[in-house]
Amino acid sequence: MRMTKVLLAAAASVALLASPLSAKKIKWKLAETWPSTLTPLASPPAKLAALMKEMSDGEFIIKVEGKEKHKAPLGILDMVKGGQYQMGHSGSYYWKGKDINTVWFTTVPFGMTPSEQYAWFYYGNGIKYMKEVYDKFGVYNYPGGNTGNQMGGWFRKEIKSVADLKGLKMRIPGLAGEVMAKLGVNVTNIPAGELYTALDRGTIDALEWVGPGMDIKMGFNKVAKYYYTGWHEPASEMQFLVNKKAYDKLPKKYQVMLETAMKAASMDMYIENFAQSADAWAKMKKDYPDIQVKTFPKPVMQALKKASDDVYAGYAAKNPKFKEILDDYTAYMKKAREWSMMSQYYYLQTSKELESTK
Ligand code: CA
Repeated sequence: MRMTKVLLAAAASVALLASPLSAKKIKWKLAETWPSTLTPLASPPAKLAALMKEMSDGEFIIKVEGKEKHKAPLGILDMVKGGQYQMGHSGSYYWKGKDINTVWFTTVPFGMTPSEQYAWFYYGNGIKYMKEVYDKFGVYNYPGGNTGNQMGGWFRKEIKSVADLKGLKMRIPGLAGEVMAKLGVNVTNIPAGELYTALDRGTIDALEWVGPGMDIKMGFNKVAKYYYTGWHEPASEMQFLVNKKAYDKLPKKYQVMLETAMKAASMDMYIENFAQSADAWAKMKKDYPDIQVKTFPKPVMQALKKASDDVYAGYAAKNPKFKEILDDYTAYMKKAREWSMMSQYYYLQTSKELESTK
């Protein structure tokens, strides 16, 4: 007993001696939009925190708080702006009510694929526009992990024509919701926790979520059999937000460490989600052989494209910055798409042809 006390006292004095060092420790908090267990969306913040701790020898600690803790999933930007949290992890397009130009840093209907968009972010003007658009919020925005091309959603009935969209009740957020609304879709916004029941009971006719990896956790494959391919979120990028004042105060080595770790954690989410989707689709296909993967008929796709162009034109007419980014984004996509076609599309197409003629 006495020995324990002596040991404790010794430990305490060692801790005291170490205190000038530990005073230099940086302790940050990060709030994320998701529950902290919702992988792969919750993976980048967790990986960032682990990397920062390791790389800084325990001197830079980031405490991650999920939605279950802060209860403000759509308050992330405000909380990072106000400094309650030094960092956030969310989706840029959630802030389109504050500034429509935030949508460019997530994804847009008929926009770039992940490789094209990453090229635009890091080697085109993407990061430059992130800085400009987020400057007024006093935060820095960084890419925060990609879901890859999202599926167009689960439908209870087959969509055979544009007329089938009229009056259809669908959960589809963001710009894509505005596009669908132009075609007569009754766009609804239902909390994530109620979506399965709403689709099962026919309160809604269709919904879009992400792709097999995340959709299987929601169970949509049990209650709808038409699984449409995507057009509306071809490369949804999450975001890391960093309070400017907090970032600017960091020693240079920690700024570099943080940016490097964010990039690594983001890329890893893209890989993780790809793997989860491949696994989940193999399982869905086996367990629910009735599921039909469909692409929308050409006239429906043409109507969606036309409505998307109208939505873009509407914002561009009102907002010069929107027009500037739209023009830059469109020009970059045109250039990058040629390479995507040459390198990926034709490879996939010829491989597929070989497979079917074997
Ligand atoms: Ca989605």
